[in-house]
Amino acid sequence: TQIGIDAGGTLIKIAYIDQGKLELVKFPTRQMAKAVDWLKQHFPQAEYCITGGKSEVLQKRLEQSVKQIVEFEATCKGVLRLLQDTENAPPEFVLTNVGTGTSIHIVKPEEHFRIGGTGVGGGTMLGLSKLLTGAGEFGEIVQEAPHGLREKVDLKVSHIYEGAVPPIPGDLTASNFGHIPHSPEELNPSDLLASVIGLVGETVTTVSVHAALQYGVSSVVYIGSSFIGNDLLKKVVVDYTILRGGTPILLDKGEYSGAIGALLSL
Ligand code: ATP
Ligand code: MG
Repeated sequence: TQIGIDAGGTLIKIAYIDQGKLELVKFPTRQMAKAVDWLKQHFPQAEYCITGGKSEVLQKRLEQSVKQIVEFEATCKGVLRLLQDTENAPPEFVLTNVGTGTSIHIVKPEEHFRIGGTGVGGGTMLGLSKLLTGAGEFGEIVQEAPHGLREKVDLKVSHIYEGAVPPIPGDLTASNFGHIPHSPEELNPSDLLASVIGLVGETVTTVSVHAALQYGVSSVVYIGSSFIGNDLLKKVVVDYTILRGGTPILLDKGEYSGAIGALLSL
């Protein structure tokens, strides 16, 4: 069996074909031993292509020779493959991978390259949520956040331009966490979680839209496990990309792009 693996800072993503069907599996990177046991048990004779920051560690634990490829090559390859099944796929776009951190690429038919990123990403979502509310599990965060009210925490442009017509859209955030009440006890944990997701979503969107403008493209393709079951982050990113003049695409199964690209490289 051929197996593609993207061993990231937080999650190990695995892609393989079983009876003609693409199978996708993930394990927490903290439980790498469990992932390795699972692989050895299911695929005693496997051919691996591995990518991601934890490739070296994983390769040692697999105790067999594997092919390794550069993370962003794998990710781009996987994204282009997934886009083949997407209606109205753009020919060129900014690719924003919201993983533990956020990495940004430009993908054009003739070339693709990494242009930068931001340390604000899925790890920030987990870390700030834990510090502000004690919520330490990703599932708990995405479940609670939609019940929160961001206007209790964040300052909008329309708040500043009180009673006047603002020169830029009033719905833009003027200041994330800039509207904390005098008695912060009034805030519910869900309000804080919603605003943490707002901060992460708006930051990655802003950086992406600026990149799109700089490189003359209009579409932004968003991937990464930070979006899994996270409707609020999806909504923030889609709405904010549109508000900023871009065209957002949330790629289904996008978090497996690196693993799929690795599989395609075998
Ligand atoms: P990087 O590419 O930066 O090395 P990674 O590839 O491990 O990291 P992803 O798997 O794309 O990153 O995304 C990790 C983020 O996804 C976490 O920071 C968290 O916000 C979110 N996440 C989604 N599901 C889980 C989960 N089951 N456990 C932990 N985090 C999760
Ligand atoms: Mg990753």
